[in-house]
Amino acid sequence: MTWYTITHSCTHEVPQHVHGDNRSQRDWKAKQLEQQICNACFARDQKTERDGANAAALAAADAAEWPALTGTEKQVPWAASLRARALALLDVVAEVAAGNPHHPEGGELVAPVREMLLSQTTAQSWITFRDKNFNAMITAWATPDERGRWRDQAGIDRFPDSVLRVANNRFFAREQ
Ligand SMILES: [Zn+2]
Repeated sequence: MTWYTITHSCTHEVPQHVHGDNRSQRDWKAKQLEQQICNACFARDQKTERDGANAAALAAADAAEWPALTGTEKQVPWAASLRARALALLDVVAEVAAGNPHHPEGGELVAPVREMLLSQTTAQSWITFRDKNFNAMITAWATPDERGRWRDQAGIDRFPDSVLRVANNRFFAREQ
């Protein structure tokens, strides 16, 4: 392990430990590092990309006339992205339910759940539930009245777990 001062492709000079069995191996690794941008620039690029995606989600939400989200300047664009992603996943749930003879009632639940999700305008709630599935959101966000109405209309007030699982897999496979 030796200290090198790496001049990255972004022109930033960063002192770095370089591991290697011998000098030529370390020199080779140092050369590889010089081809890359530094970690700080990498983090900044990632953030710019994320901010761009979040801003696009906000614009798309306005265009679709979805309700405005409330929260801090930081929370709102992030939550807009999370909401857009959730609603895209819900479309896949509809697709899976439509093709699932065992759980046709899952499809009837999609429209009311979509309406319930769109009524969630607190950015923080979307951020808190970003890794949770629709049933968790239903449990936390839907009122007892709402769920009673869903049971009357669709016969269920949460999605069959198998439908959510299949939809998740399909959605992630498409995202790759
Ligand atoms: Zn840099």
